[in-house]
Amino acid sequence: MKILIIEDEAKTAQAIRRGLRGEGYDAVVARTGEEGLSRLVAERFDLVVLDWMLPGCDGIAILGSLRARGIRSPVLLLTARDAIEDRVSGLDSGADDYLLKPFAFAELLARVRALLRRAGPDEPPRRQLGDLVLDPERRRAVRGGQEIALTPREFDLLAYLMRCQGEVVTRHMLARDVWREPNRATPLDNVIDVHLAHLRKKVDEGRVCRLIHTVRGVGIVMREEAGP
Ligand code: CA
Repeated sequence: MKILIIEDEAKTAQAIRRGLRGEGYDAVVARTGEEGLSRLVAERFDLVVLDWMLPGCDGIAILGSLRARGIRSPVLLLTARDAIEDRVSGLDSGADDYLLKPFAFAELLARVRALLRRAGPDEPPRRQLGDLVLDPERRRAVRGGQEIALTPREFDLLAYLMRCQGEVVTRHMLARDVWREPNRATPLDNVIDVHLAHLRKKVDEGRVCRLIHTVRGVGIVMREEAGP
């Protein structure tokens, strides 16, 4: 579960981030509204913790822009203001919930959980194929009980392939969904091939049952198959 915290006060931001990470969420901080908005445009987050009082573009303005762009991630708005008008204006502008500062972390956590539950069923926390198990929250991959050391990109690549297991994945899909550069002038093919080669080595080398397979001329597929 990915959570974006948009908060300019470093201490508050870090405390929330640490707390959420301690609960197993993949929490990151943006220090300005503009930075937060550009991250939200580029990546999908399951939830946004948004401070109302930000330098430059304030929380309400950010909320307006992200809803206008069709970004539907639930937003928990933090604010030190407690006037009823502010509460109404916060919820009117598309916030899903509202928390007054100062707050106890336990309360923030309760609101976060409630919003995530409301947003839909949790993704299964682990994904498995044969003896390979992926834990997206901790970003760990384990095969046959042994952890596989992966770079962040390799992990994203493996997580994507695992989501599509049984289906053929093309380089174009990887460029679009993992590298997020569908329109790059120079094809990413070589970069993708190098990452795939490293990943295959780490996942399949020396195994009787291979999991990552080439479909010649088309792409690759993840499935259990005894290979040569
Ligand atoms: Ca602030």
